[in-house]
Amino acid sequence: MRIIRYQTPEGTATYGWMLEDKVGEIQGNVFSEYRRREAKIPFKEVQVLAPCEPSKIVCVGRNYVEHARELGNETPKVPLIFFKPPSSIIPNGGTVILPPQSKQVEHEGELVMVIGKRARNVTAEQAKEFIFGYTIGNDVTARDLQKTDGQWTRAKGFDTFSPFGPWIDTDFDPSDAVVTCRVNGQMRQMASTRDMVFNVGTLIAYISSVMTLEPGDLIFTGTPAGVGELKNGDVVDVEIEGLGKLSNPVKV
Ligand code: ZN
Repeated sequence: MRIIRYQTPEGTATYGWMLEDKVGEIQGNVFSEYRRREAKIPFKEVQVLAPCEPSKIVCVGRNYVEHARELGNETPKVPLIFFKPPSSIIPNGGTVILPPQSKQVEHEGELVMVIGKRARNVTAEQAKEFIFGYTIGNDVTARDLQKTDGQWTRAKGFDTFSPFGPWIDTDFDPSDAVVTCRVNGQMRQMASTRDMVFNVGTLIAYISSVMTLEPGDLIFTGTPAGVGELKNGDVVDVEIEGLGKLSNPVKV
């Protein structure tokens, strides 16, 4: 099932579910008890929001060998994790704003896991029970600031630097799906999720041994090789086979 969040005509945010190109409201808590109303609103008429509200966004660095290599790095022995702030979230169609502090903002198309149940010290074998579903993300990064700062908080944390959506798919199989990123229609990144150094189960086990994961929290699983620059006026599309497409314009 595909889950979205959208703005009602009355201006409140609500969860919805999709049946083909129609949306139905979800009443209750989407992560526990809820009821689905009839899907009768055309998808193209709803104002789509980011599909959940994470308390934290945990990201994994250098999780594809070719990407680690292109930036001159070794593949890490254990997952390399960092945060992006929830204030950096924008929905599908939202505009990525290039900040004046950076001269080199880059795209990173990624598969994103959405946590469904509170998770602490979960094993890789148990991980599946704690995954609500999957969505598509762009870990937008000010590459020059990432290099000069050492710490990645500023480079990864600007407002608008975490587009994700357009929906969460609760049935998606992450074992072998092609992730692509195009800028103005030109292919920049392409790899299968089977090329990940650490798979989704290993990542949940590792991260939940450090911190409690809450329903709605996001895990960005790392980007394939081919990261590159975004310029004013570009449109960046991240597409994942069987999951959908996240599209965002870029402006100064
Ligand atoms: Zn990334």
